Amino acid sequence: MTNWKTQSLVDGRWVGSLESDVLNPATGAVVGRVPNNGEAGARAAVDAAAGAFPPWSQTIAKQRGRVLRQWYDNIVAHREQLARLLTAEQGKPLAEARGEIDYAASFVEFYAEESRRIHGETIPSHRKDARILVWRQSIGVCAAITPWNFPAAMVTRKCAPALAAGCTVVLKPAMETPLTALALAQLFPHDLAPAGALNVITGDAAAIGKAWCDDPRVRLVSFTGSTEIGKLLIRQSAETVKKLSLELGGNAPFLVFDDADLDAAVDGAIFSKFRNMGQTCICANRFYVQADIYDRFAETLANRVRDMVVGDGTQEGVTQGPLISVDAVAKVQAHLDDAVAGGARIVCGGKPHDLGGTYFEPTVLADVEPTMRVCREETFGPVAPLICFDHEADAIALANASRSGLAAYFYTRDISRAIRCAEQLEAGMVGVNSPYLSCEAAPFGGVKESGLGREGGRDGIAEFLETKYVLLGGLEAP
Ligand code: ADP
Repeated sequence: MTNWKTQSLVDGRWVGSLESDVLNPATGAVVGRVPNNGEAGARAAVDAAAGAFPPWSQTIAKQRGRVLRQWYDNIVAHREQLARLLTAEQGKPLAEARGEIDYAASFVEFYAEESRRIHGETIPSHRKDARILVWRQSIGVCAAITPWNFPAAMVTRKCAPALAAGCTVVLKPAMETPLTALALAQLFPHDLAPAGALNVITGDAAAIGKAWCDDPRVRLVSFTGSTEIGKLLIRQSAETVKKLSLELGGNAPFLVFDDADLDAAVDGAIFSKFRNMGQTCICANRFYVQADIYDRFAETLANRVRDMVVGDGTQEGVTQGPLISVDAVAKVQAHLDDAVAGGARIVCGGKPHDLGGTYFEPTVLADVEPTMRVCREETFGPVAPLICFDHEADAIALANASRSGLAAYFYTRDISRAIRCAEQLEAGMVGVNSPYLSCEAAPFGGVKESGLGREGGRDGIAEFLETKYVLLGGLEAP
């Protein structure tokens, strides 16, 4: 299957005229065209999902698991084509795109297994003639809205647990990167599930989002994206009292204590900060480095960053692709200008790359102050700002001085400090001596304004279930 469909998928049919261009951020070339749906398309998708909900939610769990397993096999069989499509519309280096397809597939595999483990409970009753039963039932039609930075993984991280739980789905991927989502939907084994179990539409995000929030048939909105849009969705969902699962912006602190393994900390910093050109919501946004090792850390990190290869992600050896858009470049530049104006020092990089377009030089900034925009806001680009601290308590206070709380990282060899800091950091996820937080089995999500709910692991399927308490009364007393 190399001819990917790019129309909308509604009720098992590919529909809509192709009106919006999808561009390759590395070259500016058009890589596909997708429909431009609005309110009517959004409603049609919910019609289909609502129609498919009774048969799909009543399908036995083992069978739903088999369907997901087949989807997983199909994705794995098309790994290379999917990775190339992903790089073409998103820009990340091909090696990272392959990694993302594997990561995306892992959610489908995990939830194929998990569908059979949606257990209920019996609770000791308050009456002799009654029993208390607790069931976990599919919540209903779920709306999924996904971002451009992980065009495959965010789709499966939402759709796989939803479908495993017996829910049906309407999905709207980001307009920058809709092709991977549509390709994944094409690979779904439609012959094994009711038409309308999985629907995907593209188009006007605001109109589609509003239509789904207003629709009482949509029982849950699962969103990954900016805090601003997350708050809008909360407001819009008030009228129909929807459940919301939100993975919003982060502003991850990365702490390096003077007892840390410095090389490991630099490795971690490189991965955390520069993967996907710094365009991940869990990427380190601000680095707090203890005074004794500050200069050495800055120098070692900058040496590694200078060696990075910027270019088209399809080319061998490239480690840094383009940013997603000119707006993204402008934001990175504005954050840098603000920092430099306030006295920060550029150790390496610091400007748009000679390749032009949306390429930016990977950058290390020293002498950064916590008041600067690079610390207060999510830069979402390849900039590592380094702040010096003296005491552990100061570092923790600085790390927690944010309204976001998605991920946090720190490096230390002291086990007491490790426990202490992991407990005190206000984040949904903490990486201790490791930046590799993302995996299908663990609960991914944030605290404070970084979101509600968790994705991945057992928590990730619980989002899509309602608890029902059944009192079975009138029984013969023993
Ligand atoms: P980013 O700034 O990283 O693009 P957004 O929050 O704008 O983050 O986008 C994340 C997802 O939310 C995308 O699919 C986008 O199309 C969608 N989106 C943007 N605006 C709205 C909106 N008003 N209602 C619903 N979804 C929206």
